[in-house]
Amino acid sequence: MHLREIVCQEKAVGALEQAYAAGKIAHAYLFAGDDGVGKRTTAAALAKMLLCENRQTCKSPEFVDSCGKCHSCQTFEAGGHPDFRMITKELVKFTREGKNKTTPVQMPIDVIREFLIERIANKPSMGSYVVFVLDEAEKVNNASQNAMLKVLEEPPGHCVIILLCSRPDLMLPTTLSRCQVVRFGPVSEDEIVKRLVQDGLAKTEAVFWARFSQGSLGQAIAWSSLRFKEGSIYGFKKELVERVCSFGLADVVDMAEWMGQTARKISGEWVDREQNVSTTDINRRAQKGLIKMTSLVYSDVMRLGLAIGELVNDDQKSLILRLADKLDPEAAAVKVEFCATMDKWVDSSVNEKLIFEQLLFNLSKSDILLSSTA
Ligand SMILES: [Zn+2]
Repeated sequence: MHLREIVCQEKAVGALEQAYAAGKIAHAYLFAGDDGVGKRTTAAALAKMLLCENRQTCKSPEFVDSCGKCHSCQTFEAGGHPDFRMITKELVKFTREGKNKTTPVQMPIDVIREFLIERIANKPSMGSYVVFVLDEAEKVNNASQNAMLKVLEEPPGHCVIILLCSRPDLMLPTTLSRCQVVRFGPVSEDEIVKRLVQDGLAKTEAVFWARFSQGSLGQAIAWSSLRFKEGSIYGFKKELVERVCSFGLADVVDMAEWMGQTARKISGEWVDREQNVSTTDINRRAQKGLIKMTSLVYSDVMRLGLAIGELVNDDQKSLILRLADKLDPEAAAVKVEFCATMDKWVDSSVNEKLIFEQLLFNLSKSDILLSSTA
């Protein structure tokens, strides 16, 4: 990927380009924005440009980019550039004490120490830069952030450190003040739809995934491209909406089992694709996605009731309309709230079966309360 190929982040890429043109590439950046909006891709494209042996100046708009042909670019594309250091919490296995460790939820201090702090002084092997990219910086706790301060403050001249962060509010002010913050906004719905249609999706389906992913192109692609032996994830989502619109207390156990099976299928697909990401993180992402899909049915009922915005499930509007007859916006808001609580349970490592059962039990229970108080 070249910098010029990054879509929908003109402002962020433009700021980096201007800094480079002015000879003012910072030694520490914090790329702030939601997951899947292009932070990692941009960091890699910037690194590739900085490491390129034969940078090219593109015309209109004029800016400098990697050539894609030199030894450095080719090594980069092959995934083994020695001067590009991607730091993820999954590296814990390769730390001195980490042989049998599983990936934790937070970024381990050993990874920060052994893969960033201790290596910061190493000279570039090929070119004139070494680029460190620290993934999920929001998962670096305060003690580890404090340990990083010195390298962020005064890294050697050949180093560029890029922190990727979806929650800049969780970073210490001392960390933020040492980094140049570059903001990545959400990708527009039109752009996401365009990309998904290019990938072969029908327009209706693409619109659903664009709205589901709320500006995260990465998330839209990860979900919409899921294929199972039994059919597509879109087929599953349609069935989920149908079930959510009509289930009752008696269906809770069966439906929870079905959601659990689907979450495991999704995780299985992603584990094959993303071998560097921990299974725990992937399982959580799948569970949270299904909870979100459920929640969106109720937030659509709210949208319809309050006549604001477009429906996420516009493709199944008749079902949402029917549900809205039974459920007023306030009651729907309570259900959205339940879903948000269950989403937090996922972060607290609660057992998957319990989460789905509790979610559906709560959602069906409030119906009972509603009809008994009506
Ligand atoms: Zn090159």
